[in-house]
Amino acid sequence: PKEVAEYRKRREISVDGTGIPNPCTTFDEASFPAYVLEVVNKAGFTEPTPIQAQGWPMALLGRDLVGLAETGSGKTLAYVLPAVVHINAQPYLEPGDGPIVLVMAPTRELAVQIQQETARFGSSSRIKNTCIYGGAPKGPQIRDLRNGVEIVIATPGRLIDMLESRCTSLKRVTYLVMDEADRMLDMGFEPQIRKICKQIRPDRQTLLWSATWPRDVQSIAQEFLKDFYQVTIGSRDL
Ligand code: ADP
Ligand code: MG
Repeated sequence: PKEVAEYRKRREISVDGTGIPNPCTTFDEASFPAYVLEVVNKAGFTEPTPIQAQGWPMALLGRDLVGLAETGSGKTLAYVLPAVVHINAQPYLEPGDGPIVLVMAPTRELAVQIQQETARFGSSSRIKNTCIYGGAPKGPQIRDLRNGVEIVIATPGRLIDMLESRCTSLKRVTYLVMDEADRMLDMGFEPQIRKICKQIRPDRQTLLWSATWPRDVQSIAQEFLKDFYQVTIGSRDL
């Protein structure tokens, strides 16, 4: 409809893919459960950012997604809120069996930031998360993993370590996020990313987020995402 086209145009939202859902212009339209909306309201957020408005209905359909938008555009919550819904939609959770949601991020700083956002917005539903990154003792990270978590936020190198020493497993992961994919590839994490993706069941949902869209990110998307939607905010010449 005309309003949808106008909404997208005004916010510089471009979309690609088949069966594209309309953006949700308000938080309620995203049909998040009350416990999620409550936290959003408490945070004082008045409306979804463009990447959230278009990304949420796509992610909530369970489809793969590439989201391209500059830093500061709200990409974290674009995948965290659907992740919370995804976890709470699981019929039965066996504790200590590895995460359901895996977020890969390039640096410790970013991983910690994502964890804080996740803890804040997933708190109401008792979702447990932990952060796995290098340059820190493994003990507490291993303990968290053993205690059972639904969400793991990890830098690729330390995650591989943990997998090789069998401190966790990815067999339960059904929602995979690659955040700041361009930075992860710039930092040389491509072999680790490949290795990790290959350990996760192929019927998972995969979401890839990036501020730029260079060749190497495109080929990772082609290889590890299926029939994906693409949302771009702003210029498409990233
Ligand atoms: P990006 O990953 O795109 O760089 P972030 O996810 O880090 O962006 O979000 C940037 C800031 O915007 C964060 O402080 C976040 O809490 C805030 N934010 C996210 N969504 C909204 C919203 N709908 N309204 C207002 N602020 C928001
Ligand atoms: Mg981000």
